[in-house]
Amino acid sequence: MKNSDPRNGAPLRNIVLTGLPGCGKTTLGSKAAAILNLEFIDLDREIERRAGLSVAEIFTRFGEDRFRDLETEELLKAVARQGLLIAAGGGTLLRDENVKALKDKAFVIFLDRAAEKIAADFADDGTRPLLRGGPERLLQLARERQERYLSAADVILPNQGDEEDGLAGLTAVVSAETASGGCAVIGHPVAHSLSPVIHGAVFKSLGLDWPYPAIDVPPESLAAFVGAARRSSLKGFNITIPHKSAVIPLLDEVDEEAALAGAVNAVTNRRGRLIGFNTDMEGLRASLIDHGHDFPGRNVLILGAGGAAGSLAFKAARSGAARVTILARRVEAADQAAERIRRRLKFMANSGPLTPESMAEEAAASDLVINCTPLGMLGMKDNFQSFDFLDRLPPEAAVCDLIYNPARTALLAEAEKRGLTGFNGLGMLIHQAIAADELFLNRTLDKAKLYRTAAGALCEKA
Ligand code: NAP
Repeated sequence: MKNSDPRNGAPLRNIVLTGLPGCGKTTLGSKAAAILNLEFIDLDREIERRAGLSVAEIFTRFGEDRFRDLETEELLKAVARQGLLIAAGGGTLLRDENVKALKDKAFVIFLDRAAEKIAADFADDGTRPLLRGGPERLLQLARERQERYLSAADVILPNQGDEEDGLAGLTAVVSAETASGGCAVIGHPVAHSLSPVIHGAVFKSLGLDWPYPAIDVPPESLAAFVGAARRSSLKGFNITIPHKSAVIPLLDEVDEEAALAGAVNAVTNRRGRLIGFNTDMEGLRASLIDHGHDFPGRNVLILGAGGAAGSLAFKAARSGAARVTILARRVEAADQAAERIRRRLKFMANSGPLTPESMAEEAAASDLVINCTPLGMLGMKDNFQSFDFLDRLPPEAAVCDLIYNPARTALLAEAEKRGLTGFNGLGMLIHQAIAADELFLNRTLDKAKLYRTAAGALCEKA
């Protein structure tokens, strides 16, 4: 069991779950603790063990006041320890001394499940004395306690009832707290991410013992995760699909370029102030330069109109490209991305549908193609309908595929077959990570050396 930071023995803060009876504190808390190797304590079970009676029996024989005394004693005992995940009772926050103890010694997560939903979940089985009386009683408890739950909470985590999602959300929020002093990447799904390998190698080579987990954050838990990160000692976190835009309103500040692009992939945490950046754009540009290309004067054709496409089209326009065209299967998404560039940069960006005809037409006027769709990615059934558009590119043109798995997509193979320069997204991935590390560390790093270190770590992993 992990009660202290394995790197330096520093005590881990206790994490306490609060919320109405039946909101999922015990079910989700015990499972999250098992996943994260934390010791789990259910306050009600501790009280029952000590009294040798069930909670219901304590209420019946000695009354609620006696139960609350026992609860305070067990709570103080628990929070005097460290690194525990504690499920508090539904009424633990009714006493001011309990609230104070939690504020001083714990990170408090309010597991917010609507009383109406809990009432529907539970047929009263007699084990929860305060639920006797049916839904009306629970609704009354919610009215009486909601304010207390809210004001004592460090973060509010909604529980919509799906156990898998609820557990993922809770595990994510607790992970923000337990990855103390390090960084993380968040996404949904995120298990495939190579970021832990890259950042792990960078931190190690800098002599830093910083954790960098991949944390799966379902969309409905994003706000709770960000709240937890703000109050934690995380130095920062990277963001991948699908949170790059959704995170923006949750941050305290967003750097100008990221705000203009409408996507954030790195967030720094400076004493609770969260600032968003976009290092994807700089990462791609650095990778282009590594391959002897850059945006100034280029006619750039962008395939796709998602988060990466929008940011990169923006970066191209801002960095002196002569022409920028965005083609996407949903032409309205391409139109919107181009319109944003026209409006914000006064740059005449073009847009159109992602069809073999329009790709061929645009290729004739382009010398740098960037694939920002998942077409050709490992596990993706679809691919480009035709590669004939590559025949229309001039011989000096380059084709960049943001995909890096597989390393050589059909698009790159077809480009090379035609004698064109082609390269994948691995360089961008490493460059954006190192640029993010400069932000997390707040200092300039030896990028070329760290690039080799990270590339080496990825090779070893492959
Ligand atoms: P995104 O926001 O989901 O956008 C994906 C784009 O591709 C959207 O325009 C989407 O169209 C389109 N698309 C999806 N499936 C398609 C299909 N079957 N046919 C045609 N178009 C399709 O994703 P993103 O963040 O921009 O990422 C795009 C790609 O770049 C991904 O493969 C990602 O892994 C890669 N990437 C790499 C790096 C790196 O460091 N190398 C960094 C960021 C992204 P709809 O809107 O119609 O779905």
